[in-house]
Amino acid sequence: MTDVCIIGGGIIGLSIARELAGRGLSVRVLAREPARQTASWAAAGIFPPAPRYAGAPPGDLLTAWSDELHRQWARDLLDETGIDNGLRECGGLHVAADDDQFARLRAAVALWEAQGTRCDVLDAAGIAALEPALADAVSRGRLIGGFHLPAEMQIRPPRHLQALERSCLTRGVTIETGVTVRDLEIRGGRVRSVAAEQEGHATAVHAEHYVLAAGAWSGALAERLGLALMTRPIRGQIALLRLPVQRLRRVVNRGLGYLVPREDGRLLVGSTLEDAGFAATTTPEAIDSLLVMVRDLLGTTDGATLEQSWAGLRPASIDGLPTIGRVPACDDACVAAGHFRAGLHQSTGTAVLVADLITGQPTALDPSPFAPDRLPGSTDVVGEYLARAAAETV
Ligand SMILES: Cc1cc2nc3c(=O)[nH]c(=O)nc-3n(C[C@H](O)[C@H](O)[C@H](O)COP(=O)(O)OP(=O)(O)OC[C@H]3O[C@@H](n4cnc5c(N)ncnc54)[C@H](O)[C@@H]3O)c2cc1C
Repeated sequence: MTDVCIIGGGIIGLSIARELAGRGLSVRVLAREPARQTASWAAAGIFPPAPRYAGAPPGDLLTAWSDELHRQWARDLLDETGIDNGLRECGGLHVAADDDQFARLRAAVALWEAQGTRCDVLDAAGIAALEPALADAVSRGRLIGGFHLPAEMQIRPPRHLQALERSCLTRGVTIETGVTVRDLEIRGGRVRSVAAEQEGHATAVHAEHYVLAAGAWSGALAERLGLALMTRPIRGQIALLRLPVQRLRRVVNRGLGYLVPREDGRLLVGSTLEDAGFAATTTPEAIDSLLVMVRDLLGTTDGATLEQSWAGLRPASIDGLPTIGRVPACDDACVAAGHFRAGLHQSTGTAVLVADLITGQPTALDPSPFAPDRLPGSTDVVGEYLARAAAETV
């Protein structure tokens, strides 16, 4: 019998599968869509600096640990699969269009600095000197200052997923796409089987352990496990441009918007934050607004081609923390979902944590703050982001 059945073939499901298979367990992944249709594929792949620091809240601890693991995983994945996932310490610029935005940035940067992250303050001329492509925006008064964070990284999500998939297959994982899990059969405090559907045929999957890692869709299946997950889908849209020559070196962040320069000359432009239910579709208005941001920051989009645009659904947890851990009512089930805007970044730590829980190893991180049955705090992190997105104009 399969040791572990994982529901979900996004970054979280595949990372857990890889980690478990690396420990000698037999793993089967059931995924409704191929990886390229997941939120994980749609992500920008920005990893803000994530140092370990004393007194860090649980989410920051998970990100810091995951950040360290990513460096190792990138090397291992390259060795195992020959695929370079594009993890680069390219640095990031955080720029402000006005005094209010600069004041908000300064407050955020003060936190980073207190954690030991290098943040160089820049005036408008300093921005233009560091990234000449932004000189036009500076001369038009569209950028008044900002901060340079040399430790900011980027990864290429499609390549990382491809590398993970290949590594999983090499390690003996079975990945089945086009399989929709409809139900979980629960008896005597255990999941007895997973009821799935493939090409119109019903099938039952049995395993020793089950992991629910179905991203924004985890809530309905979690209810069968007696859990009320605080997750909801939050749409993000992205435009991918091809430029004749790459004009930026660093990730440029302004408010919730960003430009991510890829080494091959592409420029990824993101992103929206929208409460649009489960509609993972792009809208012309949102893509236009992203192109307006590019023109505002770079002065022009002449010579650039809009190569692709897409939308993904972030699995948002109201309290801002992912849910990771054993299901109290079912001995043999774990949940790993709700990573919102940081699922790529937090995927490695999540994978090791879940694998430790399943194999009964001591965990490197206290899992209790992520417990599936934790009580929601009073802060609505998702609501705050949506309000910020609505207030921001290009
Ligand atoms: C526009 C955008 C930009 C982002 N940028 C970043 C970033 O820069 N950095 C970062 O760290 N994160 C980023 N994120 C967030 C990140 O993408 C997510 O947190 C992460 O991908 C969630 O991964 P997941 O595996 O939980 O979910 P998903 O990738 O959505 O995967 C869910 C999986 O579950 C499967 N599934 C669902 N229901 C069923 C079912 N009933 N039966 C079988 N399978 C099922 C799906 O087919 C899929 O395989 C971004 C997200 C978006 C949308």
